[in-house]
Amino acid sequence: MSIASKIAEINAQLPASTRLVAVSKYHPADAVREAYEAGQRIFGESHVQEVTAKYAELPTDIEWHFIGHLQTNKVKYIAPFIALIHSVDTEHLLDEIEKQAAKVNRQIPVLLEVHVAQEETKYGFSIDSLRETLKNGGLVAKYPHVLFKGIMGMASHVDDDATIRAEFHALSSFFNEAKTWVPTFCELSMGMSGDYQIAVEEGSTLVRIGTSIFGERVY
Ligand SMILES: *Cc1c(COP(=O)(O)O)cnc(C)c1O
Repeated sequence: MSIASKIAEINAQLPASTRLVAVSKYHPADAVREAYEAGQRIFGESHVQEVTAKYAELPTDIEWHFIGHLQTNKVKYIAPFIALIHSVDTEHLLDEIEKQAAKVNRQIPVLLEVHVAQEETKYGFSIDSLRETLKNGGLVAKYPHVLFKGIMGMASHVDDDATIRAEFHALSSFFNEAKTWVPTFCELSMGMSGDYQIAVEEGSTLVRIGTSIFGERVY
């Protein structure tokens, strides 16, 4: 199946309230172009060097989303153009995004990454720590050049749908709770190739899909 027909097939399953982030990491610019020609405009990347190279080479109306772990010393390279950073996992990173956004005179849209999966290695805030941070309104007020748009999370890598659903449900409940403290919250990024149908049922507004569109990644 072509990239265009895979995108069409996924879009046909998404409700109007859910948008597709085509995860193009490790795939060449030509693959992105093929998806672009099929109408796709939002692409997700997880490496700074790769996204800056593709940004320079590809059409300017592409919305580039950063979805991988972001090192503070690399924020400056994406600050001028990045449309949404999904993976903000520390206040230290927010400090740097604030600084670099101010330098380029932008307000950078971000999602706060929330850890709900069983795996120890996943990055992100715990629901409890984020609740404490967001509840008093202090976090948002501290960062005038950061636009807090919502949260991102990943489910455990397991075959058991009930576990995946419970984790997405926890993210969704917390998102709805947090919306009452952060009025700009409107995006819940969850769901990948293997679990996006469940994520959509649990209220995802952004699904991040790579393999089901572009095939296996070449490392
Ligand atoms: C790579 C990646 C994806 C896409 O995963 P697929 O299984 O290829 O759809 C989604 N989210 C994040 C954070 C990723 O790093």
